[in-house]
Amino acid sequence: MKKIQMVDLKGQYQHIKEQVDASVLDVIESTAYINGPEVHDFQKELEEYLGVTHVIPCANGTDALQIAMMGLGLKPGDEVITADFTFAATVEVIALLGLTPVLVDVDPITFNIDIEAIKKAITPKTRAIVPVHLFGLAAQMDEIMDIAKANDLYVIEDNAQGIGGTYTTRDMAKPKTGTIGHVASTSFFPSKNLGCYGDGGAIFTNDDELAHIIRGIVNHGMYERYHHDVVGVNSRLDSIQAAVLRAKLPHLNEYNTKRRNAARKYTAAFSGIENIITPTGFCDAGNSICDVCDCHVFHQYTLRITNGKRDDLVKHLNANDIPCGVYYPIPLHLQNAYKDDRYKESDFPVTNQLVKEVISLPMHTELDDEQIDFITKTVIDFVTN
Ligand SMILES: *Cc1c(COP(=O)(O)O)cnc(C)c1O
Repeated sequence: MKKIQMVDLKGQYQHIKEQVDASVLDVIESTAYINGPEVHDFQKELEEYLGVTHVIPCANGTDALQIAMMGLGLKPGDEVITADFTFAATVEVIALLGLTPVLVDVDPITFNIDIEAIKKAITPKTRAIVPVHLFGLAAQMDEIMDIAKANDLYVIEDNAQGIGGTYTTRDMAKPKTGTIGHVASTSFFPSKNLGCYGDGGAIFTNDDELAHIIRGIVNHGMYERYHHDVVGVNSRLDSIQAAVLRAKLPHLNEYNTKRRNAARKYTAAFSGIENIITPTGFCDAGNSICDVCDCHVFHQYTLRITNGKRDDLVKHLNANDIPCGVYYPIPLHLQNAYKDDRYKESDFPVTNQLVKEVISLPMHTELDDEQIDFITKTVIDFVTN
């Protein structure tokens, strides 16, 4: 059996090596390392793939979130609601801009931001909601857009883990995640579903005016050369990364299908096993289960281990040379940087439970049946003994 990896970037590279090597070498030869034609071409190709009017590439997914918030003109004191159970980047940029993060609990089935908790958290100072499509499953965007409309709020989708996924609306449309809110961010960190070979990110929007504002912000606030109209940042996707992404984008659907197939095999093996809750997500429309449709892109395949032995399972898997991850072990509201007197522990029953139960299994495009069998048997042996 091939050695099991949490993410197999090398195996994936082998399939596209010729093309990646050739286009990266072309960029080196061209010397157009910054803002070269590869960046523009990638932007156009990603706009077409997503069905969104504007993609603005930038340096990483954290910058993308920050720039989206700057573009919307959010000001210190504005409250921004986001999930307690996510990667820290989401809350970090809110705090960094002097905005007030308002963390709320998540749903135990989807792991995504809880709709009732959003409603309860709205105050006259609330200006935006940041749903995270956690682990590759879309948040409940119909409900979130309804709340935003009723309360005049912006919606910023953190699509770092969801690229290529869709959301089924109540009208049974299937827009891609990241094209539904006012603006969205994504990351091309190597291990993301569409990863480059370094850092990269992008902002998406269908709003022409916002896109224009953001294109200036990523470039030192310049709309005309050497005229700095707003305080901006320097945040660019470089041409070599764009060349890698152009080679990978045509494979994104196939990559996500491979992830879903691996997820289906995991779920089939774990079905009926006590103390394991497999990840299912529900499309809003008709409550069809996402693991039989094409919404979920399984950035992570995350189980809940309900017998209190999650940490022992981590050790057991590691002892069997099976890598795994705990995303995320500490709720954001308990992190030193983001503690706030306004929070009560009783506001976060789900997150507080999930951090003790979740474990993410190897998930990537190169998993084979032998590896999946070994992983599932090792997990099941442990939990049933
Ligand atoms: C990875 C990630 C980010 C940050 O992306 P970087 O490119 O590493 O800056 C933001 N939000 C979420 C949910 C992520 O998973």
